[in-house]
Amino acid sequence: MLVDSHCHLNYPDLADTAAVLARAKAAGVGVMQTISTQRSDFAPVKALATAYPEIYCSIGIHPHEAEPHEDISEEELLREADHPKVIGIGETGLDYYYEHSPRKAQQELFKRHIAVGRQLDLPVIVHSRDADEDTVAILTEAYQESPFRFLIHCFSSSSYLAEKSVEIGGYISASGIITFKKSQALRDSFAGVPLERLLVETDSPYLAPEPHRGKPCEPAYTAFTAQRLAEIKSVAVEDIARITTENFFRLFSKAKCPQ
Ligand SMILES: [Zn+2]
Ligand SMILES: [Zn+2]
Repeated sequence: MLVDSHCHLNYPDLADTAAVLARAKAAGVGVMQTISTQRSDFAPVKALATAYPEIYCSIGIHPHEAEPHEDISEEELLREADHPKVIGIGETGLDYYYEHSPRKAQQELFKRHIAVGRQLDLPVIVHSRDADEDTVAILTEAYQESPFRFLIHCFSSSSYLAEKSVEIGGYISASGIITFKKSQALRDSFAGVPLERLLVETDSPYLAPEPHRGKPCEPAYTAFTAQRLAEIKSVAVEDIARITTENFFRLFSKAKCPQ
């Protein structure tokens, strides 16, 4: 069984949930986590997770949305996360590529999410783009204060971020980007990440892997990313499925493995 550790099932491209889940199941994807990016996602992701046993969800604010959510308090995040199927905090982090929100607002909210993840002992789901140094600085400083669990989702950064994250107990998730022709440097970074710290995801409806690149993505396509990851790590795809699934349930320990 594969787990899609990060997708956005409440987005319009994935609106036919029953069909999306049926195709996922046919591709061996038995569990998925649908991720919040803003306040208006909280109710829909929890509704999806409540309706379907194989769906879990997260509560958090994407760095793009940091500015309009500057007012969101730790208390509000704690209250929203108090739900049996909320297993992670995020996605949060830093995106200096698009910089849709000022860096200061992104950093403040990132730190607030870490505090919430730490209090609830839930993993923090980190989005980091063109912000490796600041991401490492915030993670390391916060970790030294007091440990917490985290995942760098849709990892597409330098080996520096991967190595520093692994050093302080972090996990690294591979998306369809690792299948793209131009991603050799990224594949080289993944070659250096220990197997026991790897997860897979789609980030659907974005980032469809080859051979579906450019089309809407869906959880079923986790299988293409797992296949490529198996090649990078020189192990059988069945082993990548087993290991990344074990890693998912170790990290997101509030989720229950179906078998
Ligand atoms: Zn993201
Ligand atoms: Zn996402």
